[in-house]
Order: sequence, then C-alpha cells, then structure tokens
Amino acid sequence: MATSAPGGSRVILRRLREIMAVGDDVQSRLDRLVAMIAATMVADVCSIYLRRGEALELFATVGLRAEAVHRTRLNMLEGLVGLVAESARPLNIPDAPHHPRFSYRPETGEDPYNAFLGVPVLRTDRVFGVLVVQNRVAKTYDEDEVEALQTIAMVLAEMVAGLSGDRSFLAEVEVRPSRPERLIGRAFSDGIAIGVAVLHEPHAPLGRMIADDPVLETARLNTALHSVRLGLDAMLESDGSRLSGASREVLETFRLLAQDRSWEQRLKEGIGAGLSAEAAVERARQQHRAKLSSVRDPYLRDRLHDLEDLDNRLLRSLAQSGGLGRTEMPANAILIARDLGPAELLEYGTDRLKGIALEEGGPSSHAAIVARALGIPMIGRLQDLLRRVEPGDVVTLDSELSEAHLRPQSEVLASMQQRIALRSEQAAEFAKLRDLAAQTLDGHGISLSINAGLALDMRNLDTAGAEGVGLFRTEFQFMVSETLPRLRAQTKLYAEILDLAGRRPVTFRTLDIGGDKILPYVTAEREDNPALGWRALRIGLDRPALLRYQLRALVEAADARALRVMFPLVANIEEFDAARAFMQREMDLAYRKGRAGPTSLEIGAMLEAPSLGFVIDSLAGRADFLSIGTNDLMQYFFAADRGNARVSDRYDLLSLPALRFLRQIARDAAAARLPISICGEAAGKTLEAMTFLALGFERLSMPAGRVAPVKRMVRSLDRRAAAAAVNALLDAPTVRVREALLTFAQGAAVML
Ligand code: PEP
Ligand code: MG
Repeated sequence: MATSAPGGSRVILRRLREIMAVGDDVQSRLDRLVAMIAATMVADVCSIYLRRGEALELFATVGLRAEAVHRTRLNMLEGLVGLVAESARPLNIPDAPHHPRFSYRPETGEDPYNAFLGVPVLRTDRVFGVLVVQNRVAKTYDEDEVEALQTIAMVLAEMVAGLSGDRSFLAEVEVRPSRPERLIGRAFSDGIAIGVAVLHEPHAPLGRMIADDPVLETARLNTALHSVRLGLDAMLESDGSRLSGASREVLETFRLLAQDRSWEQRLKEGIGAGLSAEAAVERARQQHRAKLSSVRDPYLRDRLHDLEDLDNRLLRSLAQSGGLGRTEMPANAILIARDLGPAELLEYGTDRLKGIALEEGGPSSHAAIVARALGIPMIGRLQDLLRRVEPGDVVTLDSELSEAHLRPQSEVLASMQQRIALRSEQAAEFAKLRDLAAQTLDGHGISLSINAGLALDMRNLDTAGAEGVGLFRTEFQFMVSETLPRLRAQTKLYAEILDLAGRRPVTFRTLDIGGDKILPYVTAEREDNPALGWRALRIGLDRPALLRYQLRALVEAADARALRVMFPLVANIEEFDAARAFMQREMDLAYRKGRAGPTSLEIGAMLEAPSLGFVIDSLAGRADFLSIGTNDLMQYFFAADRGNARVSDRYDLLSLPALRFLRQIARDAAAARLPISICGEAAGKTLEAMTFLALGFERLSMPAGRVAPVKRMVRSLDRRAAAAAVNALLDAPTVRVREALLTFAQGAAVML
C-alpha cells in the first residue's frame, strides 16, 4: 500500500493541504479529501464522520452511497464508528460485519465491506469525529497504515478547526469547544476574574502541521532536543550536591526519558511522514495522553506524565527557535494549565495575569501560595479543563463558588461583572476602615494582624491596616525555592521582612514542613499518616542543623531589633524546652561574635496539638506567648485530615466540643498570664472571630484580605453581650451552636 513508506504519507499530507487551501465550499473540499485518501490508500471506502450535537454524522464518503451523506447519523454509542469515538482509539478489524458492535445502515450500502479501520479525529484530547477506511477483502491493516491514518486525522482536525470562510456548514460540530460550560473545582486563591484563556502549554499552532522540508524540520527538532537535554543536565549538575531523594530521582528519570532513542525515533518518523516538528511532537503528546487515559497504574501514569512534560518542553523550545514566538499575552489573561510551578507563575508577571485555572494542583501547592500572595484568583482541580478550553475563549473564575465558566453566556457574564463591581465597592468601603481602630463598642481594643509568608505579602500590611504579622510562615521561602535556602538567603529574607514591617511586630514561625508541605530537595520517607507523622518541630528537633541555621538567620536578621519566634506543633513541654535551648545557643553565639543581638526576644509555642492545651499552666515562665493554629488544632481535635476534602468539612469549629476546648484554653492562658493569639484561617471568618472575642481572645491573625471585614465586625460588637450569650450556649447542651451564634449576631446587629 502506498502509505507504507513515509514518503507516501507525505504525499497525502501535501495533497491534503492543497485541497484544504482551495477556497471552495467545505463540502467539496471534504469530498475531494476522502477521494484522495481512498485513492492513495487503495481503500474501497473512505468516510469522514463529524460529531454534530450528540450524533456522529456522515459528512463525506467515497464508496458508501452518496445519499447517506448528512443522513446517516449514529448516536455516540452506536456501531463501530461510535466505538472509535467512545474509546478515542483506532479500531482495526478484518471482518467488521461480525463484530458485536457492528450496526447495519441500509442507506449506506455497507454490507460488502469486511476490513474496517477507524481512527478518532482528535483535537486537544476531544474526539470530534472519526475517519474510516474500509476494504472488501477481509484483512487487518498494518501498523504503518494505522499510523498514517492517525496522522491524517490529526492534520484534518487542525485544518477543519482552522477553516476560514462560511462555517455555518459546521454548525454544532464541536471542532473546538463552543458551548458554555461550567466547571466546579476548588478555590486556591480568592477573587473573581473575567478574562481570556491563555494556555500555559500551547499546542501546535494551526497551519504549521505540514512541512515540505523534512531536513529543515529534523534540524529544528535536533536543536530543540539538544536544548531540552542540556537544560536537564544543567539542572541536575547545578543542584547536584543539594538534590536528594525524590526530586533527584524525578530529574534523573526525566533525563533518561529525554535520551530515549525510541521517543526521538518516533518524533523523527513523524517528520519523515510530512509533519512539521511541532506537529510531530503534538502527535507524540496525543499518543501519551491517549495512553494516560487508559492506564491506572500510578507508576506508569507518572512516567507518562513525565513524557508529556518532555513533549511540552520540546514544544516550548521549538516555539522559541521557530520564529513563531510566544503569543502576546492579552491584557486580561486567564492562565490555563494542568499544574504550575511557582517560578513559572512569577514569570508571567502580574500586569496582565488576571486569574489562573488549573486542571490539577493543590491548595497548599507552591503556586497557590504565590497566587495568594499576588492576590490573583486561582481555581484548581477543574476536571478536563485542558480538553474543554481553547486559547482565546472567554473564561470567568469565581473563588466564592469555586467555579469556572468557559465561554459563558451573556447573563453569566453580566452577573459576574456586577459581582466584581460589588466587590470593588466593598473594597472601597473596607479601605475606609484602614486607619480606624479595631475597638469593640464597649471599648476593648483588639489586635488584628496578617498571616504572611513571602516578601510580596508585606505590602498587605498597609492596605489591610493591620497591626503586624501574627504568623510569618518561613517555610514558604523553602517551598518556592528549587534548593535548600542557605543561611545568607534566609537572613536576607528575614531582614527584609523586618525592614518592610518597620515598627510593627512580626512573629516568625520556624520551619513547618512535612505533612502536606513537601520540599522537593528534602528526602522524606513515605508515611502512612503524614499529618500525624514527622513534621514541623519534630523535624527541627531531629535535624538540629536545619533548625539552628534558621534560628541563627533570625537572630542575625534581628540585630538591634525586636525578635519574636514561635515553634509549630509543640506537643509537650519537653519539646518546647528543647527548642528554646537551641534558640539560647544561637543567642549566645551571636553575643560571642560581638553582635548586639535582638533588643528583645520573645519565644512562643503554637498550640496545634490538643495535648498542649492541657498543660498551659506548665508553660508559664517557659514560653512568652502562645498562638493557636486552628487549622491543625481542629484536624487533630476532630481526627479529620484538613487536606482531605471528604472529611475536612465534616466538623464545625463552631460546635460545642471545639468551643468548650477553646474557652478552657483562653481561661488557662489568662490564669497563667500568657498572651495568646489565634492565627488559623478561622480567625479571618467574621462569625468565628466574633465567637473568639466572646471567649476572651484579643489577638487574631489572619489572611490579609480578611482584616477589614473582621475589623468591621469588631467595631459593631458589644463584647460583653457576646460573651454572655456565648457562655450561656456553652454551658447548656446546645446542639446547633452555629445557628444560635448567627441568631445572636443578627439580633445584636453585629456586622458579619
Ligand atoms: C494552623 O495550623 O492553623 C496554622 C496557622 O498553621 P498552618 O496552617 O501553616 O499549618
Ligand atoms: Mg499549623
């Protein structure tokens, strides 16, 4: 058969391009196309089915009866064509009429054909049609033929998608997704955005699928391969000494894959068959994705993901070398990606980036942390996002509803615009609160601080009108870095934070890693229960070098300034004493070096393990302050993993057990004269914050965006009345505590 040689399919691809380029109507082009494929492939039948609405419609054929065109409509689960569409894989069978899925359509006159080869017409993973060849003789098509037809289908897909002129003929054909869709995911960073989709990993651009000069394309591919390999080598070598465990393994695997001759061979075959270098990579990527959808084994899935990443790197490298360049970012870009690294995100800058939508990702991922710091809305875990969105589509993101709309209807857009306007009105109203005191109606001053983790966060201090930083999560620097930050880098960051804070206090929390916060360059053993495992202060005490370096950096950064440090997840007094002793050693060291040292030093414990809540009296005289991390405290208290969506929302902090526990903690801390604050997410929720004040807490630290709403609540609250109401609720066997608190707030005109 003519296509067995790569040259054969090159001929087909060239003719394909000629046919599609002629400006006559779409039907005649498709008619000539099937005729050409049938002639070149020596097939008795060649047909194109395109998906129109919910059916696969015969759009063009040679070999079947002409009357069947546009009349034969198969539902998606019908016949062999339906099977190809459903599985998104080629189907190659010698005796079609005996296949259990064969469906006889008399109008096509199909009965005499035995051999059947159908391949999906795919674009960005969506099946929007099926290309079929059939022969009278019973035979199995060989591998080259299958491959050739797949390549033709891929090019056909791009060409149909890019057809200019009258598209009404293609009405309802989902060549590219066109209907409005709503995807529900998870909000990783707060905000509402309307913008235009920009793909982080663009697929091969239209019109560059076929190339006439295989020598040139091979050279381009070689250059790109070379630069990808060099990049990987450089990464491994530069970080070589510091990389360990998992991340090294991943990079090594990557490098091995990049050297894989069979991968390269397949790419070159694609070029030999007449594809451009980009299209050859795109074809490989499609094949990896198709495999990915059927593989369940997690190890294999990871490898296929790695391969796909390599394909993406190659595409990027080709885009740079091929003069196609990165397309200009629109002014209101919504970035679309499977997942995103923090450095990649920062590269996009903040001017034009209005939002980020991810197919995967996690709320504590590094990119999510950066997005929150930059104030860019981010929604993740949007299923099938990449398949459903095209560059240039209008996309809206809404963190309040954790949803994204793709190509939204005008009503949806209008309502989003209204909400954006409302938010900016609210923001203007909140801005007025900035310089007002956080004081209750009955005269109690409340301290409101922000949680931060990056230098970027510090600008929020002013905008929020906060007293200081109640929780500085030092691990963020470690998480957004490719390698372990050195002493100097740590010192520099802490000094910068203190500079930016000026006279406002900053409470640094020492490294809180482990659990869901994994550092790529720190070897971690797999644990059955990471949340209950080797994390936070436990790592610090077992790996004193890590903790001591950090304390040294803090002491150095705070030279001649006040220093406040707290340790995460202290579970008993002994741990706190041991950590404090490390701090003392670093102070002594600083003095020995002749430094002035901090002007004052306060050391605190985070109350996150319930056990510490029962020994607050023993902390008196040892700790200078306490801070409750409600995120962790509640996960341990209710035995519900905070990172597991199935259980994390099952228990309510505003319920009897949690509030009775918190009340006891507040009383014990007051008796021990230990200043105590609350710094988990709950501190930023108005009803929760109201309840905390009622229980006796006076210091809250929260995400910066929550300071203004909480301040408004504080200024509308009679704390004594709230305390009386809350205590009454807790002294009785109240069941629906949240509702009762809401009723109180409404009755007392508290602004929530
Ligand atoms: C907490 O657990 O409530 C807390 C503030 O710490 P993190 O969320 O960083 O674990
Ligand atoms: Mg915590």
